[in-house]
Amino acid sequence: MVKKRLTAKKKVQTKKRIQIKRKLVRRKQTKKREEVKFIGQVTRIRQTEPATVVEWPRTITHVHTYGMLSPFFEGLKKGELRATQCSNPKCTEKRLWIPPRAHCPDCHTQMVWKTLPNPVVGKIYTFTQVVYAGTGIELSTPYWQVDVEIPGLATIPKSYLLYGEPHIGMKVKAEFRTKKPTNTVLDYYWVPYETNA
Ligand SMILES: [Zn+2]
Repeated sequence: MVKKRLTAKKKVQTKKRIQIKRKLVRRKQTKKREEVKFIGQVTRIRQTEPATVVEWPRTITHVHTYGMLSPFFEGLKKGELRATQCSNPKCTEKRLWIPPRAHCPDCHTQMVWKTLPNPVVGKIYTFTQVVYAGTGIELSTPYWQVDVEIPGLATIPKSYLLYGEPHIGMKVKAEFRTKKPTNTVLDYYWVPYETNA
């Protein structure tokens, strides 16, 4: 009689154990597996013959410091064209530099900043029309790229003509993108300069 009771108890225990085991197995089955996922964009196939060519778009953020030339870009936002000048009294190069140089190319002395008085008027030295711009050019095409002679400068800086047709010797005036600056060299450009005189 005792033996029979014990057996019944054991049977119940075994049943319970089996139930728990099944539950665990079920839980394990329903739990999502940890898998490596593709998080990119599907590439577009451009051609398959004679070989597969895919379009693989890439973007990068290039972090760039203007370093000691920062005042030039700060000036553009304020509508000022700033140049650098050698501070060495013994240096023979007294003229101004645009694009600015942090150090004098002739004597390596640190340069000082000079703001050109407005309006800055120059003369077109040469020009070219850009029809097919390279990647990264942020101007609409076609546009006129102009090299402008500015009085007092050792350099002939390159920029662009906002509107109009250029010719060699044409007088142009510097203008600035002060409202929505791009914080790049594109923040100054030239416009035809007409005087009534
Ligand atoms: Zn110098």
